[in-house]
Amino acid sequence: MVVLKNYLRLSASICGSTKIMSHLLTELQQLDHEHAFQNYGTRLPYAFVKGEGARMWDSNGREYLDFLGGIAVVVLGHNHPKVTAAIAHQASQILHTSNFFYIEPQVRLAAKLSEMSGGMRAIFCNSGAEANEAAIKIARRYAYDRGETQRVEIVTLEKSFHGRTLGALAATGQPKYQEGFGPLPLGFKHVPFGDIEALREAVTDKTALVMFETILGESGVLPLSGEFILAARQICDDNGALLAIDEVQCGCGRTGKFFAHSYFDVVPDMIPLAKGLANGVPIGAVLAREEVALALTPGSHGTTFGGNFLASAAALATLHALEEEGWMDNAARVGDYFQKRLCGWVEELGIEAQVRGRGLMIGVELSVPLARKLMLQSLQNGLVFNAVGDTILRFLPPLIISTGDVDEAMEILSKSWNEIEK
Ligand code: PLP
Repeated sequence: MVVLKNYLRLSASICGSTKIMSHLLTELQQLDHEHAFQNYGTRLPYAFVKGEGARMWDSNGREYLDFLGGIAVVVLGHNHPKVTAAIAHQASQILHTSNFFYIEPQVRLAAKLSEMSGGMRAIFCNSGAEANEAAIKIARRYAYDRGETQRVEIVTLEKSFHGRTLGALAATGQPKYQEGFGPLPLGFKHVPFGDIEALREAVTDKTALVMFETILGESGVLPLSGEFILAARQICDDNGALLAIDEVQCGCGRTGKFFAHSYFDVVPDMIPLAKGLANGVPIGAVLAREEVALALTPGSHGTTFGGNFLASAAALATLHALEEEGWMDNAARVGDYFQKRLCGWVEELGIEAQVRGRGLMIGVELSVPLARKLMLQSLQNGLVFNAVGDTILRFLPPLIISTGDVDEAMEILSKSWNEIEK
């Protein structure tokens, strides 16, 4: 019923501002096929033209509930008024100067992130891969500056994803992403996910950096145990290595706290951030404790666009709204409710499944290979989420969703499941 209502709900306000462009999709498909790189393969046959909160509308005027949030990016939902106003205001003032000069929103953003991280310094870039790339460079340079020129190794986890630039790709523990791009930078080791003894063996006096997410997002929402996270900190300390916790996906409030690692009694040396930081405007950052940050001496690293006016202004507005409007608490509360509803649903279906994650970073691993089919059917029924392989459903909705949105999503999921089962 709700689904049907949504299908028909071409509400006056949305229809008024968004033309129905039934030929747009066909045109985009043709242009993309003929002129764009095909690295995304044949894309899903939808083109979204408008977003508001947790809703999006496609070129045919159909409404969707966005439970992918961009892809863990749109933490405040689409078109958040404070972020939109900050972007519009900044665009009307000045968009770019070189990092030779002081950039007001960048400096204020650094101060805000410093306040939120207990005094870390910030450096800015444009994406998660660049943030991790910088973390790798910082760790090597930190060792080098201390005369430890042999300390160059980076240890990460199998199944991890840290990005696609060559250094971040070498850090990524999934050979399928590395195939054909060699030679990759040297000095990277991957240990099995969650294996404390393997980590202990891999980390030596040659290790510059250990890096992991507390919940591995891209490979299907795999939470590390608190025991592993605390042991990793100890192993780094025992061997003089730095610890970076990649919060590109799980950070920015998604788990119910701004930093996902805050659920554990651990203090990282560096925190790469990106995705949700500016609610959709490209930005990345590395936060590092003072001594580590100072390893990047003047001239040793930089970027043209990193921390530019627009992205920094959008990020500042995002952080203020996240805090002032209480969306992190909402993520924790609605995330718990969503997990309960998902557990009830798989129980009702009588299939074996594991529901996991924290806050609004949720994975459901099914014992049957129907994840992609369910994702496609749900899209047709107006719900957007992601399938990891054939068995895992991944939900990364905006942190502003309500329990009512979850009820609606569950209704679409159940309907879609019944349809694919037939
Ligand atoms: N690190 C993690 C944990 C990620 O999930 C991702 C992207 O999914 C990245 C790094 C790379 O970020 P980007 O795609 O912005 O380069």
